[in-house]
Amino acid sequence: MSADTFAPSLPAAAELSADAAVVGAGPAGLAAALELARGGLDVLLLDEQAEPGGQYYRRPGPEVLDAVGDHRPEGGRLVARVRAAGVRVLSGHTVWGVDDDRRTLLAASPGGAALRVRARWVVAATGAYERSVPFPGWQLPGVVTPGLAQHMSAEGVRLGRRAVVAGSGPFLLPVACALLERGVRVAAVAEAGRPYTPGPAALGALRFPARLAELASYAARLARHGVRLHQDTVVARAHGADRVEAATLVRFSDPGEVVARHDVDLLCVGYGFRPQADLAQLLGCAVDRDPATGDTVPRLTPAGRASVPHVYVVGEAAGAAGAPTALARGRAAALDILAASGRAPDRGERRRLAVRMASLARFTRLTAALYPAPAELVPALARRLPGSALVCRCECVTAGAVRGAAAAAGGSDVPAVKGGTRAGMGLCQARECGPALEALRADGPGTGAVPARVPLRPLPLAAVLGPAPGEDA
Ligand SMILES: Cc1cc2nc3c(=O)[nH]c(=O)nc-3n(C[C@H](O)[C@H](O)[C@H](O)COP(=O)(O)OP(=O)(O)OC[C@H]3O[C@@H](n4cnc5c(N)ncnc54)[C@H](O)[C@@H]3O)c2cc1C
Repeated sequence: MSADTFAPSLPAAAELSADAAVVGAGPAGLAAALELARGGLDVLLLDEQAEPGGQYYRRPGPEVLDAVGDHRPEGGRLVARVRAAGVRVLSGHTVWGVDDDRRTLLAASPGGAALRVRARWVVAATGAYERSVPFPGWQLPGVVTPGLAQHMSAEGVRLGRRAVVAGSGPFLLPVACALLERGVRVAAVAEAGRPYTPGPAALGALRFPARLAELASYAARLARHGVRLHQDTVVARAHGADRVEAATLVRFSDPGEVVARHDVDLLCVGYGFRPQADLAQLLGCAVDRDPATGDTVPRLTPAGRASVPHVYVVGEAAGAAGAPTALARGRAAALDILAASGRAPDRGERRRLAVRMASLARFTRLTAALYPAPAELVPALARRLPGSALVCRCECVTAGAVRGAAAAAGGSDVPAVKGGTRAGMGLCQARECGPALEALRADGPGTGAVPARVPLRPLPLAAVLGPAPGEDA
């Protein structure tokens, strides 16, 4: 279903307008909203979560606050400043589509009522997904993503007794430390690349002493707890009947070589983050396929302005680069909007921000050079999947079925494979299996950006059809 065929039948809905609508209240959206409001614009900030904060500044509920406190109080301070600046914060509001004018945002309120939002400027700060790659047994209870493990640990939950943390990227180390803090015994961290082996690329880290110190502190904590660090290692299989009981790790460069088998009741696997650019796509923004990550990324100016000039894309939605970059991108977009609105922001401030963003970009490039490029990693892992392995967990579709559908359709694009198998058409709408589907669809590189579809999220029917007769909206 496309936005064009879907939108005309929409019922009358409450309508809000503002100078700027910011979608996503993570670090990027909060920073953008704050700067815009300080510059004198009327700002609406929408987020589907119950509280603003996004992934990095996720706000703890009252019970968590009592039990374990707030592990990122600076997030609470930022949210308070945003509210104090007069930003209208609409938590619990999901933006699920864009009207035919490619401008009006279609949202659903917490009760499921329809809301239309019109703004002179739209800032998409929709964050990222974790990059999952299937492996036999990944559907077993006890297999989770590192992001989930991090969040649950921060909320005081002990997810298991003995864990392996695997995948790729710098995020694996703090996740392992967070598990240790909750009393989970971490048997090993398995990293697909070799980022922790001294070499010319690793030496580049010396230019970032604060980051190096952070890394050293994680490494020291892991060493103190006897956590093994396997490099060039990936999960080949999770074993277990009703839940995960063990994980077999193999060399990434030689899948025939078993590195270790660990008995675990918790297996955290993820390969970094991929931008959530679907709202930008619905708004008509041009996107490209990032050759290093294989991700669909919006085409942007350095300040985050998209090909549709009233739309900005900031934070992880513009490319995964971490929370400090997300904050800086949010501010940069806001300053650009203020300049375009005739509210000239302080030139010195823009210059200082540009210097900071250049330094952050150097660190992002270093990180990218240290860890394996997802555009190569994901297809390499997907090619190894046995035909019986589940790829789409929502619709129970195997790798064999996906390969068969791709062959029948002549190795065509993802939509044909989805249509033929229902892979990627379940509750998560390919957020989990999308990269693997793309990689399995054919042996060659991907053919282009995956199109965005409405609704962006599952949503109550009332948000589309209007209230039932006799009910209030
Ligand atoms: C599951 C997960 C866990 C993570 N945990 C950590 C961590 O512990 N530490 C760390 O350093 N980094 C973590 N990251 C990386 C982290 O996302 C970034 O570094 C940082 O939060 C990015 O900020 P952001 O503002 O770009 O996006 P986010 O913080 O992700 O914020 C995006 C916000 O947009 C909202 N949103 C998205 N789409 C819509 C929509 N259609 N309608 C309404 N609202 C919408 C989301 O609910 C979210 O609140 C995590 C990422 C993910 C995906």
